[in-house]
Amino acid sequence: AKAAGGNRYEVADPEADARAITRHGLTTALPAALERGEFFIEYQPLVHLDDGTVHGAEALVRWSHPQHGVLGPDRFIPLAEHTGLIVPLGRWVLEQSVRQAMFWQRQLPEGALGGPLRINVNLSPTQLHHPGLVADTVEVLERIGLPPGALCLEVTESALIGADEDLLKPLRQLAEMGVDIALDDFGTGYSNLANLRRLPVSVLKLDRSFTQGMQQHPADPVDLKIVEGIVALAHSLELAVTVEGVETGAQAEHLRRLGCDTAQGWYYARPGPPEQLHMLSLADAV
Ligand code: C2E
Ligand code: CA
Ligand code: CA
Ligand code: CA
Repeated sequence: AKAAGGNRYEVADPEADARAITRHGLTTALPAALERGEFFIEYQPLVHLDDGTVHGAEALVRWSHPQHGVLGPDRFIPLAEHTGLIVPLGRWVLEQSVRQAMFWQRQLPEGALGGPLRINVNLSPTQLHHPGLVADTVEVLERIGLPPGALCLEVTESALIGADEDLLKPLRQLAEMGVDIALDDFGTGYSNLANLRRLPVSVLKLDRSFTQGMQQHPADPVDLKIVEGIVALAHSLELAVTVEGVETGAQAEHLRRLGCDTAQGWYYARPGPPEQLHMLSLADAV
């Protein structure tokens, strides 16, 4: 930790210093890492809860760091957010993901899926505030030829709390073009439920914390009631409900009975290479 007002280092907490140094090192290495192609994307399937068919996949970025090995997004997305590198990095993630979705739409057998495969891409607050968001997204979709309806952009609930019209306008424009907007980590941000009507979202993505009480039979009855209420509200507003972090068959069964639409989690598949989706889709066909 740096002493207030000076450049002298105090060795009060060596571990905190080591973390700060790593953070600093990672932050300065980010731009070159993007140029050198050290980022890659894993895809985690989303399945329909009623019949288990594949609905699409969420793109999750990783950094193959030459010294530290593979780093998860929690290690570097906040740093990229802070420096603004998230904008070019996010554009890269979008382009790769849209290309992958286009490939799936062309290559996977018709009828093996519950409709054409869709792709979910995360947007962080800085990207949401960036003036090029709509133009960049439209440009990528048009150049690659993916229908806007095959793309879902995930925005966290906390990024939209208290959002004014200026912030919502780009999302509204994208939604009008047919892009789905999902409210990610729903339930963690204390947002006013009545506020949902104001947001241009078509999907609620229920946070993992809600489904943790459902890992066993019998499930926590209060958790069941809460999720039942959220699903009823979401459906009355014509929003689809996705649940994340489904780790057991018991959870999947509870969530299906509660009327959730799609699910994602280790019970179905971990995030993995794009080929994983081919296997799952083919498995559906038999
Ligand atoms: P998220 O959007 O909430 O993504 C879900 C996280 O839950 C992922 O962590 C995923 O690997 C993990 N997960 C999936 N199924 C299960 C399960 O059954 N059990 C448990 N315990 N965890 C599960 P990951 O890949 O480490 O990503 C962390 C966060 O980083 C994401 O949270 C998202 O907010 C952010 N992120 C990832 N990729 C991008 C990106 O391209 N751009 C931006 N802006 N953020 C990203
Ligand atoms: Ca997400
Ligand atoms: Ca989430
Ligand atoms: Ca989450």
